[in-house]
Amino acid sequence: MCGKEAAVRLRYANLWLCREHFLEFFERRVERTLRRYGMVREGDRIGVAVSGGKDSMVALYVLSRLGERVGFEVCGLHIDLGISAENYSRVCLQRVVEAFRELGLVYRVLSLKKEYGFTVEEAAKRVRRPQCAVCGLVRRYVLNKMALEMGVTKLATGHHLNDFAVFIVNNVVHANYAYLARLKPMLLARAGLVARIRPLLETPEHDIAAYARFLGIRYADIRCPYGAEEPTKVVGRFLEIVEKRSPGITMMMVRGFIARCLPILESRFGEEEVRACKECGYPTTGDLCAFCRLLRRIGARR
Ligand code: AMP
Ligand code: ZN
Repeated sequence: MCGKEAAVRLRYANLWLCREHFLEFFERRVERTLRRYGMVREGDRIGVAVSGGKDSMVALYVLSRLGERVGFEVCGLHIDLGISAENYSRVCLQRVVEAFRELGLVYRVLSLKKEYGFTVEEAAKRVRRPQCAVCGLVRRYVLNKMALEMGVTKLATGHHLNDFAVFIVNNVVHANYAYLARLKPMLLARAGLVARIRPLLETPEHDIAAYARFLGIRYADIRCPYGAEEPTKVVGRFLEIVEKRSPGITMMMVRGFIARCLPILESRFGEEEVRACKECGYPTTGDLCAFCRLLRRIGARR
């Protein structure tokens, strides 16, 4: 673009870019994603769910920078899950709060232990279920609750292009088509549920790493000690091989899925009937929502 020495190579676009042009390219693309899928409106209050890892931390920084340009407000949300192995949650919390303060954002941190009296590790042990299942359930519920309490109009997560690609292939492999129908760029708000957006949907993970490096974003460079399940890792490696041979194919698959496959899946698998949880009012298909059932089983306070 400018003749300066390139700092990054984007194989899928056949581009070599210097730091400044890359940052511009990266932010433009996120802005385009926001507009293409109607993710934000002027006056929105976007709550970014930040784990402390690279992806959601970058989502936080890029949305903060775009907020001024597009006209929405950004605030931060973090759950301290209390994962003590390898000091995981402590390091995450530290990085997240540093970032919230540096950006001068309104934010809220909720400690599971302080609020409900248990950590993810303790809950999983008590109900004898896998850590990741309990953690996912707790995060979904608690983030939604925090967002509603903070007056957030849309909750943003750090899911990126490669997450989506893995999710698509993994669910095709397992023939989970009803599940695939929920893989939308944006989930609209319903009674008791805040809208959800995925602003990094069209951003490859490799670019997220470069953006973090160029801006000097300090994130928690550790993985959760309980790790992702093995099958998704295998699919991820498979997709890396395919992308290497055909740069750009991941983007094509994800965009194609959203544009052409998702509408068909949505019309086939309509939204489930839901009612209000008897305990907390959160939408659920049964009497009690999964979170309230968990609280009951472990005898936790609410
Ligand atoms: P994961 O399921 O670990 O890939 O996380 C998906 C997204 O959930 C992340 O990109 C974050 O936006 C959000 N998230 C994960 N963990 C937390 C946490 N402890 N607090 C707030 N948000 C989180
Ligand atoms: Zn409930």
